[in-house]
This record gives sequence, C-alpha cells and structure tokens, in this order.
Amino acid sequence: MTTKSETLFNKAVKVLPGGVSRNTIFRKPYPFYADKGEGCYVTDIEGVTRIDFANNMASLIHGHAYPAIVEAVSEQLTKGSCFTMATEAEVNYAEFLCERVSSFDKIRFVNSGTEAVMAMLKASRAYTGKAKIAKVEGAYHGAYDYAEVSQTANPSNWGEQDKPSSIPVAVGTPAKALEDVVVIPFNDPERAINILEQHKDEIACILVDLLPHRVGLIPASNDFVKALHQWTRDNKSLLVFDEVITFRTNYSGAQQNYDVTPDLTAMGKVIGGGFPAGALAGCDKVMKVLDPTEPKVLLPHSGTFSANPITMTAGLAAMKDFDQAAVIKLNQLASYAREAITQAIADVGIKACVTGAGSMFRIHLKAQPPKNYREAYVDKKESQLITKLLDHLFDNGIMMINTCTATLSTVMTKTEIDHLVCALKDGFELIKP
Ligand code: PLP
Repeated sequence: MTTKSETLFNKAVKVLPGGVSRNTIFRKPYPFYADKGEGCYVTDIEGVTRIDFANNMASLIHGHAYPAIVEAVSEQLTKGSCFTMATEAEVNYAEFLCERVSSFDKIRFVNSGTEAVMAMLKASRAYTGKAKIAKVEGAYHGAYDYAEVSQTANPSNWGEQDKPSSIPVAVGTPAKALEDVVVIPFNDPERAINILEQHKDEIACILVDLLPHRVGLIPASNDFVKALHQWTRDNKSLLVFDEVITFRTNYSGAQQNYDVTPDLTAMGKVIGGGFPAGALAGCDKVMKVLDPTEPKVLLPHSGTFSANPITMTAGLAAMKDFDQAAVIKLNQLASYAREAITQAIADVGIKACVTGAGSMFRIHLKAQPPKNYREAYVDKKESQLITKLLDHLFDNGIMMINTCTATLSTVMTKTEIDHLVCALKDGFELIKP
C-alpha cells in the first residue's frame, strides 16, 4: 500500500528539486512529512509520534507550540505581520539582547543564520577595508559563497595540514571567493597563526564557531581563541563569532565561557522562537558601518522582512523563558544524557564516543573523540552504520539530526533521555561488528 508520505513525495519531485526544499532533511526513500508538533514530540503524516531531538536543526529551544510563544505571536498576528515601518517589538527585543550579552552594544536583525554571517563578514570588510576572511577548516557557517569554503571536503582535497585548501562546496564558486578565504586548522594555534601571518595585512576578520558541529561538535580551546584574538589585535583585524547554533549553549551564548570579547557575533536559530531569524551584534565602533545617520554609510544594508514583529515577538517570548535557571537546568539534562550514553557505549562494548557541550551532543562511531575536522571525518563505512543506527532510532520513536547529533529543548525531562539511551543501547548492539 502506498503511504501518505510516498504519495506526497511523488507529487513533490515534480515541483521541488529532489522533492525537497532543503537538502539536509532528504532521506531515502523519501523524507518524513510533519503533521504537528507539541512540546518535545513531533507527529508525522502517517500518525507516528517521535521524541524530537532535532528541534528543526537546533532552532527550537522550547520544543513545539510553546504556549508563551503561541500566545504572544497570536496577539501580534491580529495586528499585522510586517510593515514598511519600524516597530516597538524590534526595539524591545534589541534592548533585551543587548542587556543579555556584554559584547553587544548594538544589534541588527536579519532573517537567517546565513544572512547574519554574510552581513557580519561584509561589516568586517567595510570596517577594516580589507578583503580576506579567515575561517576554520570544515566549519559550517551557512550558504554565503565565502562562508561555504572548506566545509564538506573529500580527504583527497584537504591539502597539507600546514596549508588547508580553500575548497568550494558549490560548482561555480567564483575563484576570487576562494582566493579571499584563508583556511586555518581548528584548535591548533601555532599552525593557525603561521598561516595567518602569510596574509598579514589582508585579513578583515577571523570567523570562529566555538562548538563547530561539522568539525566534530568539540569546543574551541581557550588557548586557540586567545591566540586568534591576540593576532587580530596585532594586525588591525576583527575576531567574529558565529553563534548561530551555540547561542543556545549558555545564557550569553558560548562566548560566556571564554576570556576574550568578540568584535561581532552572528546569531540565528533559537533567537527566532521558531520563526526565521538572524542577527549580528557587537561593539559600537564596528556596528557603526551600518548606521544610516553617518555621513558616509560604509555598509548599506536592508532586508524586506528583517525585524518583522512576528519574529521579534516570538524571539523575545522564547528568550525571556530561557533565563539563567532554564539554561542551567537544560545543560544539566544534556550532561546527564552524555554520561548515560557514554555508559551505554561501555556496556555494549562498541567503538563509539560522545562529544558536545551545553544542550547538544553528537555520537561518533570512533574509539576516541575527534580533535579536529580531519579526525571527525565520517568515511563510507561509518556513514552506513550511522544511517542504520538512525533508522533504528526512528523506528523506536526518536528523531535526531542526520549526523547523529541531538539537541535538547526545555520541555524535555529525564524520561525522554532514558528512552533515547535505551533505544541507543539496542541500536549499538545492532551495528556492533
Ligand atoms: N552558522 C552555523 C554555525 C549554522 O549551524 C548554520 C545552520 O545550520 C548557519 C550558520 C546558517 O543558518 P541558516 O540555516 O539559518 O541560514
């Protein structure tokens, strides 16, 4: 019998490339089609309910249909969703976020993490007058040409460790974009500084994600971040953080855990309360490049839906309830999960490990946690086993991100974690050689 999902997919392939609107949710033979979500549970159109550890790629901090967000947005919707005018909602949310994070003097809202990183890189160039940006090998920063360099490389293209290659993700990436991206290895201050020194007067900013997912979901070391910061101070460059995912890991984002202050920060995901959102924020002197009251605006910047009151209202409601106590409670639940999974790995005796921090974790089928992108590389054999493990989890009521990554939401409890650990244990037995 043809399932509802199959019927829908057969229609979808006729009008959407590959039947999907984002490649990350594609799976064989067809993607899951969501019907509804409630709390930490999501139900597909076949009527199967699963615990949602994917949270729309880490963007839902309170799960689905969170009552405070539904109420705030419903009220705003009756008043209109967007205007060719500024609104009180954006001022309120900007005030809230600038009070929450000490490195934020000013903030500019956009509509996605990609847009936030793009605007942040352009602001860095406008401020410094330099063209190049430096980024960590393998780190994902969204779909802007420059941010996309060196993300999903095949090992044969990686290049020497002392000079990682600027590999494009997309065919047709302009050669100039590749030339202008300097790739540095993760958590290797000595090698990174040596590479940066070869582009001394040309680098507008160093872009860093403090817990890069594709690099293995391992935290940046304080030494690494401090060395990059010092280099930017010595070379009239900027240190900019991509906190699109990591903003959920602490009250003021992951930057709270480090001894340095970034010049700019890009955000997205959780700050939208479940609606499309992004923002860049930072110190006054750099954010001035956007200021329309300046005699010369160095970075003219706009966006039709930027700071729309629906997103602003949803974001404020979400982040208000993600207060210090909620952050601590959620991160404790994630520590409990990481420990329980590590124990399950030991009990089963499989070659696997768990990485992550804050409210996220990733399972690798490797004996030791990877230390960088090259070590985190998932070969064909590991990829097949991970697919088998994820399929087993799906069949047992659990939804994760397809790299075997989980993100928690505040509406979860130990019950959901225990369910995950139990299903994982059986899954490990299934794929154990
Ligand atoms: N930066 C990081 C670290 C991300 O994880 C993502 C998305 O997953 C982005 C940027 C891009 O955000 P968006 O998908 O909202 O464009």
